[in-house]
Amino acid sequence: MNILVINAGSSSLKYQLYNMKTEDVLAKGRVERIGMDSSILTHEVENQPEVREVSEILDHTTAIKKVLDMLTHRKFGVLRNIQDIQAVGHRVVHGGESFSESVLVDQNVKLEIRKLFDLAPLHNPAHMMGIVAVEANLPNVPQAVVFDTAFHQSMPPSSYLYAIPTVLYRKHQIRRYGFHGTSHDYVSKRAAEFLGRPLEKLKLISCHIGNGASCAAILHGKSYDTSMGMTPLEGLMMGTRSGDLDPAVVPFAINKEDLTLNEVNSMLNKHSGLLAISGISSDMREVVEAMNDGNDKAKLAFEMYAYRIRKYIGSYVAAMDGVDAILFTAGVGENSAPLREAVCRGLTFFGVHLDADRNAVRSSETRRITTDDSGVSVLVVPTNEELLIARDTYRLVKDKTAVESRF
Ligand code: AMP
Repeated sequence: MNILVINAGSSSLKYQLYNMKTEDVLAKGRVERIGMDSSILTHEVENQPEVREVSEILDHTTAIKKVLDMLTHRKFGVLRNIQDIQAVGHRVVHGGESFSESVLVDQNVKLEIRKLFDLAPLHNPAHMMGIVAVEANLPNVPQAVVFDTAFHQSMPPSSYLYAIPTVLYRKHQIRRYGFHGTSHDYVSKRAAEFLGRPLEKLKLISCHIGNGASCAAILHGKSYDTSMGMTPLEGLMMGTRSGDLDPAVVPFAINKEDLTLNEVNSMLNKHSGLLAISGISSDMREVVEAMNDGNDKAKLAFEMYAYRIRKYIGSYVAAMDGVDAILFTAGVGENSAPLREAVCRGLTFFGVHLDADRNAVRSSETRRITTDDSGVSVLVVPTNEELLIARDTYRLVKDKTAVESRF
């Protein structure tokens, strides 16, 4: 079975085509600048030169059509015709309280996702455009949706409620949802496999440290707590997001600087974090480079960033009354040895002993970076959210086919 995985944004769309027998990626790519005059489709097939096509793509339906044309292209394609795509899986950021697992798309599911537009105004409407665009191009192909929030629906109320009047939760669903669930789910399963122990017996802390960043306390395979909240702004310091701050800062800053709500929102989401403190970049590579060149602001930004991850790890050890392994994943977590070292430096009390040589190794494989006698293992686990979306879609479509064949 071939499955197309789609991550639709408002003006861009990423895709990966999987052969589920081997779990190989047959092709992948992206469409950028949808709705603008010179849209760009970039298409990659292993061991072949990248293909770049510039054309006018005014909407998502045309973008999906272009992707399908490319996948079946005489020269650059990997499929004979579009009937060779048996299912499509979509990444959807917000599933609210309606979705605690991935589901096949039907009218009700679309209605529920629309109801959640309020909670993820920048993301869910774009995902819906992707779903509708696939429907238009592949009307009989089953589609599944995999939510960033679903994995965290197992959190108990003591983790997900804010200590504010509960009417706000009842009337407006103001609570903590958490994000990066697909990644935390994937790396925790992969870690259990690597450790050779049942996930149901493990206490794990997963640190997804990319441009956006979150930690999750995963108790016996289920999310118990996570650092992002109602939106991805809460929690760790990130590339351009502030992470945790006293909410009273918001009205105070609005008052002092005469800011609008949009301006303060943009300040906290786009102009804060590593970028604000370093004054250089939101990219950890550039911050580390500047720090190594003696830049004090870059050093402070790096230290704040690492310190906050360490504080969350400490709090999750307390939350779960212990930890078996700490996992690092995503762009920074997988690639930045100095960041992992800075985080783990303060965790010796918990029995974490990093092995400097193992930490310095660069690899795309899951690996242990602690010493053999370290009480707690620290693993680097490359994440693969697209593969998890493809696996969930495959399982749902197979289950549906199995049920239908009984009647
Ligand atoms: P992601 O959101 O997971 O794609 O991660 C993107 C971030 O990973 C970038 O903004 C970089 O800051 C970071 N990154 C990628 N490669 C490295 C590296 N070699 N060292 C440090 N940070 C890196």
